[in-house]
Amino acid sequence: MKAELPAVTLPGGRQVPALGLGTWHMGEGEASMAEEAASLRAGLDLGMTVIDTAEMYADGGAEEVVGEAIKGRRDEVFLVSKVLPYNASRAGTIAACEASLKRLGTDHIELYLLHWRGRHPFSETVEAFETLKAEGKIGAWGVSNFDISDMRELLEDAEPHRPAANQVLYNLARRGIEFDLLRWSQVQGIPIMAYSPLDEGRLLGHPVLEEIGRIHNVGSAQVALAFLLTKAGVIAIPKSGSPERVRDNFRASEIRLTSEDLRLLDEAFPPPTRKRPLEMI
Ligand code: NAP
Repeated sequence: MKAELPAVTLPGGRQVPALGLGTWHMGEGEASMAEEAASLRAGLDLGMTVIDTAEMYADGGAEEVVGEAIKGRRDEVFLVSKVLPYNASRAGTIAACEASLKRLGTDHIELYLLHWRGRHPFSETVEAFETLKAEGKIGAWGVSNFDISDMRELLEDAEPHRPAANQVLYNLARRGIEFDLLRWSQVQGIPIMAYSPLDEGRLLGHPVLEEIGRIHNVGSAQVALAFLLTKAGVIAIPKSGSPERVRDNFRASEIRLTSEDLRLLDEAFPPPTRKRPLEMI
């Protein structure tokens, strides 16, 4: 990992960089697979070694792009994939994981997440996760799109096992988790993976982000990501299919937002003052 990237400690003690790489919409054929894989490799070159994917993305196509990108450098990568809730029965989770491993061209996934809450009881999914862990097919398991009440229920049902992460929508325009889930997760030692950290691109070009960016000689994307890097226990996973934009995003780790910058951001994107249900994309 490059020294500049802040790290987040996972339960169990492993450290991962707080800036990773998303893959949603990769493998859909809009852009060339080679360019998408090159973008992920550009991130790896800079130490952005957390790659987030899912069986859902492009029906497995994104996992194939990841498989291509990590060929020959598997050991550098902290791989995250997800099982769809419809597949998250005891047997279904195991079959889904095995299919993901095949597409990824590897024999293990570092972190395997339940994509969102579905109809299968947590106990069944957790049992499957623990089986996969015992077989060495996954290193740890976690969840995604879980609000604080879901997390509390999960902790109770999964006991004595615990999730290693919760991946949720979190960016300047969607600060709802700052009301309760973020602090709760920090206290529990469960990292938050912030998905859509650029709000799927909607934050790009925002005048306040541009203004702060000018002071630091970066663009709006880097300011949006730098904001997330100020939060303890948060891993941001921006997606870009362009090596150049991945390198741009890395620059978020090179700036330090001042208290005045943070005040301006709070003014433009007020933090929550009451509980709001967790938003999802
Ligand atoms: P995002 O990372 O907030 O934004 C991605 C968009 O921003 C893309 O259109 C990308 O275009 C553009 N972009 C990225 N860097 C840029 C830059 N420096 N300058 C200009 N444009 C830039 O949105 P996201 O893909 O929804 O979220 C990130 C990742 O989180 C996903 O890829 C996925 O892995 C994960 N995710 C998880 C869930 C879940 O339910 N668990 C839901 C959504 C997302 P280009 O590719 O053309 O650069």
